[in-house]
Amino acid sequence: MQLSDKVQYLKGVGQTRAKQLAKLSIFTLEDLLRNYPRDYIDYTNPYPIAQAPYQTPCVVKAEIYGRQQPVRISNGRTLCRVTAGDESAGLQIAFFNNPWAAEKLQLGKEYLFYGRLSGAPFRREMTAPVFLPADSTAPLTPVYHQTEGIHSAYLAKLCSQALKQLAGQILDPVPAELCEQYRLPRLEEAFQMIHCPHNTQQIAQAKRRFVFEELFYLQLGMKLLHCQGLRANRAKLTNIDLAPFWNNLHFAPTGAQRRAVQEILQDMSGEQPMNRLLQGDVGSGKTLVAAAAIYAAAKNGLQSVLMAPTEILATQHAKTLADLLEPLGIRVALLTGSVKGNPKKQLLKAIAAGQAQLVVGTHAVLSDQVQFARLGLAVTDEQHRFGVRQRGLLAAKAQDPHLLVMSATPIPRTLNLLVFGELDVSILDQLPPGRTPVKTYAVTTQLRGRMFAFLDRQIDAGHQVFIVCPLIEAAEEENPILQEMQSVTEYYDQVAKKLLPKRRIGLMHGRMKSAEKTEVMRQFSNHELDVLCSTTVIEVGVDVPNANVMVIENAERYGLSALHQLRGRVGRGSGESFCILVSDHDTEEVRQRLSLLCHTNDGFEIARYDLEHRGPGDFFGARQHGLPTLKVANAMTDTRALETAARDAATLLETDPTLHDHPLLLAQVEKLFCLAGGFSIN
Ligand code: ADP
Ligand code: MG
Repeated sequence: MQLSDKVQYLKGVGQTRAKQLAKLSIFTLEDLLRNYPRDYIDYTNPYPIAQAPYQTPCVVKAEIYGRQQPVRISNGRTLCRVTAGDESAGLQIAFFNNPWAAEKLQLGKEYLFYGRLSGAPFRREMTAPVFLPADSTAPLTPVYHQTEGIHSAYLAKLCSQALKQLAGQILDPVPAELCEQYRLPRLEEAFQMIHCPHNTQQIAQAKRRFVFEELFYLQLGMKLLHCQGLRANRAKLTNIDLAPFWNNLHFAPTGAQRRAVQEILQDMSGEQPMNRLLQGDVGSGKTLVAAAAIYAAAKNGLQSVLMAPTEILATQHAKTLADLLEPLGIRVALLTGSVKGNPKKQLLKAIAAGQAQLVVGTHAVLSDQVQFARLGLAVTDEQHRFGVRQRGLLAAKAQDPHLLVMSATPIPRTLNLLVFGELDVSILDQLPPGRTPVKTYAVTTQLRGRMFAFLDRQIDAGHQVFIVCPLIEAAEEENPILQEMQSVTEYYDQVAKKLLPKRRIGLMHGRMKSAEKTEVMRQFSNHELDVLCSTTVIEVGVDVPNANVMVIENAERYGLSALHQLRGRVGRGSGESFCILVSDHDTEEVRQRLSLLCHTNDGFEIARYDLEHRGPGDFFGARQHGLPTLKVANAMTDTRALETAARDAATLLETDPTLHDHPLLLAQVEKLFCLAGGFSIN
């Protein structure tokens, strides 16, 4: 047996299981073992209920006092309530759609419950806790992300089975000297420690190893890519007259835009392919800069591709870029997951024939079906949504295309070095003229009536309104803290429609089909809707200049940078615009954070504050991390490990510049960057 064997080799894993595991991206034994626990349950020290912390996962011990029959609640779901308690306090337990769990609990017996406490001190509650009989002797139990049919306990069992079968056969790609030097466990031992730990020290040791390993691979990859960047420029521009492009605009570019375009043209006509990061606050006009580069490429017979993280954003970009470029004879094609059948065939043909000079799309553009005649420029928007992997794939698509990465999130220096180490940076530090800063207010839900009266007046004046709510259907979440929050569907039905009965209101959330989302967005863009209630699917890039109010419910849920991005959806037209942050959380911390937004519109200042006060983990938010491939390391806090890894990577590459003598290592790095062709350097 070896790590690269399929999971089906394990006993009890058949086709069905394999399919379910595939949903967690687990195909091989290595995938299985690299799927680290997201947490551990320590059943050995339960809290007395009265002392258990609120809203953080913890273990309590409680005796079962009573159990209700399951009752039907809305949407055909069932609710089953159990009362329990210890000497210190009572505990209400609720199971949604899971009467079987409740049935297992016997009256008068004691159990250990793991979950999040909510409710009031005289009525403590836990929703859908995990539990064990109190007399069972369980050590540290790993908790894994689950999916349909695959439970955490099952994954734990598979991992220990895999480790038994692989015993003594796991080869470690990290050189032994490095492990010795830093006292890191070897790979096999580390897997054992992270999946079947005997104590918390083992978990910490294993994590230290995986952090180092990950940063080490990443650094090796970045350095290898860097050398690749030193290849010849095979898409060198010769004609860079942009006069027709500038003349076609109905506004003057900002100085910052001109400067960025200049830097880009210089790169593209230089000896090496361009590798540039275009960084600018929301609304600074990055699209226009990209358009100029695309125009220049097209005039030199080169195709361009622009990749956006969502279908909505891709659609929007295609429209904006078509407005800018089609009058100049450049054909713009939109390729997303929902383009199918004959239109898709035609499109692919036009791309392969070089007739579509710009292809805008989601990651659908990375598919093998898409073959360019002569791709010269690859642009990615909102890079923090993509990983180094996708960027690698995009780069592999053409031979050495010019690369332009656009980002609205100011990127801290460490991360910049780490992820964008090989990129030059252009900064748009100037907003287009005539923008008035978005007026931002923080309010509580008590003012909801007045807020809606205000929205009504804005709509009367011909404007449109965004309302952002955090979740789709509150009760589906196990987490009670989320349950108190407004769910967007409920909000749409019971708040927005009731308080604005005469207005046209749209609803959009992440669980809708992308064609539906695109349609709602189209209606909103065309002013067929006055209000758009949505989840944060609108977060990035959407441009509807007529919308001048952004309402954010449960504003305390978001990082400041995320709030700033959301706010950037308004204030794009010339009139006054508003952002209303709704929150009933009145802790000092929340008050301070929201108040900062009320006082500044400067994305960099906001990012700095976020970084200082919330800690780096929160900075990008989980989804915006920018490095989906970094599973254990934190680019901001693991700075020491990062520096060490960078130094060791450089040292190793000095003696073995192509990793020819370290094939296992090369394989790991290639996997991380997902470059089919590898890192051949010549
Ligand atoms: P972002 O940097 O957030 O991607 P966009 O490229 O979407 O910003 O531009 C925001 C808005 O500003 C768009 O409506 C765009 O047409 C407009 N815009 C861009 N550059 C200028 C300019 N120089 N003068 C006036 N408006 C501009
Ligand atoms: Mg944008």
